[in-house]
Amino acid sequence: MYTSYAQKTLSGTNLSTAEMHAVLQTPDRDILPLLHAAYQVRHHYFGSKVHIHVLMNAKSGLCPEDCAYCSQSAVSNAPIDKYPLRPAREMIDAARKAKENGAYRYCIVTSGRAPTDNEVDAITGVVRQIKREVNIDICCCLGLLTGEKAQRLKDAGVDRVNHNLNTSKAHTPHIVSTHTYEDRLKTLYNIQKAGLDTCSGGIIGMGETHDDIIDMALSLRDLGVNSIPVNFLHPIAGTPLSNQNTLTPHDCLRALCLFRFVNPSTEIRVAGGREKNLRSLQPLALYPANSLFMEGYLTTGGLDVKDTHQMITDLGFEVETIQSESQNDHLLAIGTQAGNELTRGWVVGTDN
Ligand code: SF4
Repeated sequence: MYTSYAQKTLSGTNLSTAEMHAVLQTPDRDILPLLHAAYQVRHHYFGSKVHIHVLMNAKSGLCPEDCAYCSQSAVSNAPIDKYPLRPAREMIDAARKAKENGAYRYCIVTSGRAPTDNEVDAITGVVRQIKREVNIDICCCLGLLTGEKAQRLKDAGVDRVNHNLNTSKAHTPHIVSTHTYEDRLKTLYNIQKAGLDTCSGGIIGMGETHDDIIDMALSLRDLGVNSIPVNFLHPIAGTPLSNQNTLTPHDCLRALCLFRFVNPSTEIRVAGGREKNLRSLQPLALYPANSLFMEGYLTTGGLDVKDTHQMITDLGFEVETIQSESQNDHLLAIGTQAGNELTRGWVVGTDN
């Protein structure tokens, strides 16, 4: 049965609604055959390559929105660092460090409903400087965007913009009241119209049903997004969802497999909450997913550089980066520290 999911997907046939539900209801004892089927699809499009993303929380807290999962929201009492936009040099240096540590993409994230004109000016200046100094892809996640602001990001050299659907249309009012699902769709439209790559995903574990998860996976397919971050709720004390702690590691793996079958050729990232929810099973996430975050998230920590590379090489996968010789040497050093027998073929360059 599981092999048929891979065969159908690879032949360009969509899984039926019943089959998508069956994926999410796969018994724990069958998780390996399910992962194997998803891996066949992942391998067809991405081989054994893994993209590493590094986040820069460029502006933290101080947000007027009320997203129930978020420690930076107006309704959160979580004791997080709160600060305005970081200095340009700090963001540029962090991009260089991310590159040295094997990141394919550097993600600049700001809290808030939408960026101000001044913030867009500052961030586009930073992006231009990073593009001059560091050979790395850049993604920005700045909240709601008008067409004009999206175009300014594109003109500055931003490669991709993230704006998550977060959940289904039906479940959105249970998660946020200060903006709508349609607001989010409008921003995604503006991103795509500006010619930017689109990154959009969601958060699993916020009290949604399997129908909601399937709806989100299908919506992202219909939107034709380039990248899907699949987050798993990390309930943070002081947020409205602090007691919502329902996911098992197998739930996370089933959801990742569903996203792979529904969006076979899209970059799928095992994202926030990976370490917390997958625990000892987190390496298995890279069978359906082909990218991940390194060194933590916006307000929570995560696997460090050495352990991230160790996990990827232990799996027999390869880190793909936009490559330079000096970086190759540095990454080999990281791998050596991790106790691996590495060859220069460990890191796959794209030469662009
Ligand atoms: S997710 Fe973004 S918009 Fe929502 S509360 Fe957090 S920082 Fe604000």
